[in-house]
Amino acid sequence: MADQRTTAAPIAKLIIVDDEPHMCEICSRTLRRVGYDVVTTSDPARAIQLLRGDDGFDLLLTDIKMPSLSGLDLAKIARERDPSISIIVMTGFASIENLHRAVQSGVADVLSKPFELEHLRLAVEQALHKRALLQDNLRLRTLEQLLLSSEDLSATLDRSQLVKIVLNMTLRHSGCRAGFVWLDEPGQLTASAPDAFLLEGGDAAMQRAHREHVTITNLIAGTAAGVDLRYGMFLPLRAQGEVHGVLGLCHDSPALLRPGMQEAVQILADLSGAALRNAMLYGQLDEAFRRRQELDRMKSEIIAIASHELRTPLSLIIGYSTMVREQLQGDERSYLDRVIEGSDRIKTIVDNMVALRHLDLGSDTLQEQRLDLVELILQSVATVRSAADDQSIQIMTDLPHDRVLFLSDGEKLTIMLNQLLSNAVKFTPAQGSITISARVVGRRKLPEPRRFIVQPTDQTPASWLIVTVQDTGIGIAEHQQERIFDRFYQVAASLTRERGGTGLGLALVRELAATLNGAVWLESREGFGSSFSLALPFRPLEVHKVGTP
Ligand code: ADP
Repeated sequence: MADQRTTAAPIAKLIIVDDEPHMCEICSRTLRRVGYDVVTTSDPARAIQLLRGDDGFDLLLTDIKMPSLSGLDLAKIARERDPSISIIVMTGFASIENLHRAVQSGVADVLSKPFELEHLRLAVEQALHKRALLQDNLRLRTLEQLLLSSEDLSATLDRSQLVKIVLNMTLRHSGCRAGFVWLDEPGQLTASAPDAFLLEGGDAAMQRAHREHVTITNLIAGTAAGVDLRYGMFLPLRAQGEVHGVLGLCHDSPALLRPGMQEAVQILADLSGAALRNAMLYGQLDEAFRRRQELDRMKSEIIAIASHELRTPLSLIIGYSTMVREQLQGDERSYLDRVIEGSDRIKTIVDNMVALRHLDLGSDTLQEQRLDLVELILQSVATVRSAADDQSIQIMTDLPHDRVLFLSDGEKLTIMLNQLLSNAVKFTPAQGSITISARVVGRRKLPEPRRFIVQPTDQTPASWLIVTVQDTGIGIAEHQQERIFDRFYQVAASLTRERGGTGLGLALVRELAATLNGAVWLESREGFGSSFSLALPFRPLEVHKVGTP
């Protein structure tokens, strides 16, 4: 047989207050018969106790005129506990004044005694329907307010600021006396006010709330300004399945347990959890970034010292070796050739370090001079020739046939060309090939690569000098192509260690190109080779056709 069970709406809880016990009896029988959960009392003091208690009634049916307390005062007390509670008053004297006061107190209906029991049933049904609408309305309003509050949460990434915002926001919404936030990281409890404390019951609830939502009723969770907090709601601050802490809201009456409040506080807790997680991730990122910056600063410092200390002895080694070499023959002379080659390699590294140091200090100046394009490039090729020969790497050139004379900073240009060429040799396996090409193009002919490493400046010159170094080497993966221009970055430390290097060369190329108002771009495919291009504003001096007088 099919399961006949359906999920029934919760049974409405009603309280009937009338100083005449038989009136309570008749009404409660009628309403119980329809299925409501009914509590009755003829004692107004007991009625107050019940209304302020933990039960949470949906509807109050009360006589207006009772010996020690008016039904309208009772209605007021009920409203303090739950603003959306439905109220029906019964009266034997339906005076205009009574009716007016009843309407002003937000009473849903007034039943004039004697009334028909069917009339009572209908009035209760309608009042409860109205309450459901009111609650929906309240929920919507709360959600709207929550949405606005959540904007505050995105205003900061500072964790202690965020905790304050979370406390302010949740207290504002719940109307609770005190709030507490426990953050697992750094293991710290923050209270909403200096005179708010958690006691043993609250501490235990805070612990348990890491695992589940905890509600405390009628047990002292803490105190605020000397008032006992007997009601509390403790929720985990969760984001992406991870608990980052706990939010505890405490009050001296069960107000926070009223319908809709738990739901609203849960939403706030979820929003807070997400904001705290963001703040934590940001904190970690910021810390890592600061550590990296500090590391880079230290490396730069070491470079500054090393380059300064190495320069003088290196010049001595190269100077004396060159001198002695002239007086030697045969093997001895070739040994000295090796010494000089090695020292030259060290000198290039030291020169790069010094150049970077100058760029950092801003002490770098432009030294423009008259340059011969072909001569400049052939000189750079000569510096890597023997390393390329050792690996049987062929170097080809594709240069203008005309003599191209131009103005530029020869030292900077040489550093960049040497760097690109020596990288090409370093990262091209034996038997590979390298092509260095140079050409001058008009203003509009600058290529449009997928991305520039150094963007050309806005003031495009009349013409550009473009030099490209292409190799058949190991290539560079797409996601590394921009990063290799960062200082100290090497694709694979172990791999590049075999090939040596400092990870500074391309950083220098990038920074020097920018100083010369140039542009840099790279095309590469892992396993197939790379092509590094450098474009500089071209300032021609004169052009002679090769072979013409
Ligand atoms: P390094 O001193 O390590 O050569 P660079 O700044 O010149 O430093 O280069 C950074 C990294 O870029 C190199 O370690 C290498 O991983 C990669 N790289 C540079 N040029 C090439 C190239 N032509 N082919 C493949 N990878 C290269």
